[in-house]
Amino acid sequence: MFELWTEAVRSIEPLVKPAHRDLWLRPIECVAMDEGHIRLRAPNRYNKEWFEDNFLPSILKDLETRTQRTFSVEFELSPETVVETPEETSGPGPRAPLPERPAGAPVPPPDLVNRYTFDRFVVGPTNSFAHTAAKMVAEAPASRWNPLFIHGGVGLGKTHLLHAIGHEIHRQHPDWRVTFATGEKFVTEFIGSLMNQKRSSAGNSMEEFRTRYRTAPDVLLVDDIQFLSNKDSSQDEFFHTFNALHYAHKQIVLASDKLPAELPGVEDRLRSRFTWGLIAEVETPDLGTRVAILKRKAEIEKVDLSDEAALYIAAHVNTNVRELEGALSHLAARASFQNQPITMELVHAVLAKLVAVAPSGLTVEIIQRDVAAYFDVKLHDLKGPRRHRVVAHPRMVAMYLTRKLTNMSYPEIGSRFGGKDHSTVISAVRKIERLCAEDPAVRSVVATIESRLRQP
Ligand code: ADP
Ligand code: MG
Repeated sequence: MFELWTEAVRSIEPLVKPAHRDLWLRPIECVAMDEGHIRLRAPNRYNKEWFEDNFLPSILKDLETRTQRTFSVEFELSPETVVETPEETSGPGPRAPLPERPAGAPVPPPDLVNRYTFDRFVVGPTNSFAHTAAKMVAEAPASRWNPLFIHGGVGLGKTHLLHAIGHEIHRQHPDWRVTFATGEKFVTEFIGSLMNQKRSSAGNSMEEFRTRYRTAPDVLLVDDIQFLSNKDSSQDEFFHTFNALHYAHKQIVLASDKLPAELPGVEDRLRSRFTWGLIAEVETPDLGTRVAILKRKAEIEKVDLSDEAALYIAAHVNTNVRELEGALSHLAARASFQNQPITMELVHAVLAKLVAVAPSGLTVEIIQRDVAAYFDVKLHDLKGPRRHRVVAHPRMVAMYLTRKLTNMSYPEIGSRFGGKDHSTVISAVRKIERLCAEDPAVRSVVATIESRLRQP
């Protein structure tokens, strides 16, 4: 019977934003279900109402189509909530803030993904600074850098590092409260508390909200803080949250897809606070790190992956770690489904499909033209045999970007650059990767051209 309920909930999950799923959908438990009657348990009244208004109708509809009968629904509130909210039993009245945690009382482990730990994080030149900063903050919270601000593109390990800090601090200080939220969760909960305030005279869950974020945490981790962009009232709330925690010497760690200076619609006073501590970037891993990540992941998941296969995948999936992991899972699934090992044949077949869906619609011609224009060299020189540094460097950049942004193989690329050998293309790509890792000037030039190319 319970299965029916679970299935019905699952049927609507894909339509619900992840942050809402965790906040509003998951906390509702089914405690009893029999012929035509369902009993649900909610952590508090607000969750119950939100669930009733937003999710229950679709879930019931799904259930009713499945079973061809109608259901009545009844709610109960979790016992601990009933104690906390006296108005449920004794009528409307102001609610006291959550009591201070008595010394020595157990603190629940933070809400973190188990596998996002430091020992599963592969360190390479593009993330070692952020990794070291994260480790130091975890080892000595609030003593050095507050806040730690981690930024970088999607799928490069920001969330992983944030969780790793949380795990490590929890391990070393089991009595500390480590609070993790996404920017979206912070905003949604804040707006929820505001609405609750307006809707019912009794509700003052704003106080709960403030206890949760301003007073309770010993460490606050907020992921995807860019979500606060252009949300004035939530930013204002976060500003005060930040001040309260910072003043109390509590560690704050933030992750963002942009630098503080580049965050649109963020007030200056908040932007400047984001830069008070340390800013660390995670960048696209180089080939060697990508190989190492694949091997580590294969080892953890007990997948047999040859060096050759790892190198091939790492060379072709060069966007971010999430896609790298996706490619490996895909391969492992195919191999186990066909009950065969991961052969190079399988790797080629699977990658041809995967990499074909990723690209940007860019062609080698467009890339050559843009790179030539950027470096102010002639297009026919870029494609020709001249070896002078003035054209050789732009040529290598163009080869590197072609490799990165299109599906073309090394031999194909070679043929489009005046019939060069595939090994020339490989060494060009490696060289630019190495320079990008070592030389910020090269990195910024390549990133500028790439971002121009990626613009629609
Ligand atoms: P972001 O938050 O920057 O978008 P995530 O932290 O969600 O990226 O990382 C995406 C996936 O890649 C996660 O499964 C994460 O564990 C993995 N990952 C990212 N960087 C590394 C790394 N250096 N070593 C191992 N796994 C990594
Ligand atoms: Mg993330």
